[in-house]
Amino acid sequence: PAADVARLNAPALFAPHFPARSFASHKGTFGSLAVVGGDTGMCGAPILAARAALHTGAGKVHVAFVGEGAPAYDAPYPELMLHPPGTLAFDAMDALAVGCGMGRGANAIASLQKALGCNAPLLLDADALNLIASDTSLAGVLTAGAVKGASGADGTARPCVLTPHPLEAARLLGTDSTSIQRDRLGSARALAARFAAVVVLKGAGTVIASPDGRAAVNPTGNAALATGGTGDVLGGIIGALLAERLPGYEAALAGVYLHGLAAETLTAGGSGPAGLTAGELAPTVRTLLNRL
Ligand code: AMP
Ligand code: MG
Repeated sequence: PAADVARLNAPALFAPHFPARSFASHKGTFGSLAVVGGDTGMCGAPILAARAALHTGAGKVHVAFVGEGAPAYDAPYPELMLHPPGTLAFDAMDALAVGCGMGRGANAIASLQKALGCNAPLLLDADALNLIASDTSLAGVLTAGAVKGASGADGTARPCVLTPHPLEAARLLGTDSTSIQRDRLGSARALAARFAAVVVLKGAGTVIASPDGRAAVNPTGNAALATGGTGDVLGGIIGALLAERLPGYEAALAGVYLHGLAAETLTAGGSGPAGLTAGELAPTVRTLLNRL
């Protein structure tokens, strides 16, 4: 029921879960993230996500490309470690963000299967979601992974966050985006229950729903975000927070809130809503999260 839904208007809901940046901390303290995606011709998407992950404070950020012909390094962000297909060990990572610009080819499917088989916290976006929607065996591995995690050593489920936009949500539920938009809260809750994962249903008034029944509507963000690449940036932010060991629901709340607030901050004073570029968001997210 809508009355149960928290309006996410206070960072107090997630800020206590951010890791302390103590004097003796080192890069291992803040986790390794791999962004998995980037088919040939779509390398920009995982790079945007990975740059955003750096600015969100992940200790180390890798990109595992699925397509041939990817760049060997990212000149403006040489901190990123870029890997050709099949060369990065996913099980050495603290979190995986899978799907940005990934396409639906054989390498994409193999990479998704490998990621689903790891115990690391997972963020699934874009073509990872489209592949799961079109392949019931992948969907089965996803839900089985959540169950396996639930009986794991520490007794807690492996965090898994899905970030569909309305059309991706429609594919996952076997319906159309008009039906999703008619009941965004109900749709997010249905997806969370179906896949035993935290769901971020994107678009104006982003809904975050947990399989444990918690849900929230995000008040930040504006139409400046209606441009290519902003979803990839959100995936990188939430992926970084998972690598920093935030629980899935809090990572999703924090990521969505900060991403939207960055858009508001960058467009205040007349420089929006037209013309914001997705890559601009990440340095502002950095400033905002250091003020929490
Ligand atoms: P994607 O559809 O994957 O490119 O992701 C787009 C991102 O921009 C998501 O985080 C959306 O929630 C956000 N977004 C797009 N349009 C709007 C809007 N009109 N108001 C607020 N957020 C938006
Ligand atoms: Mg997208």
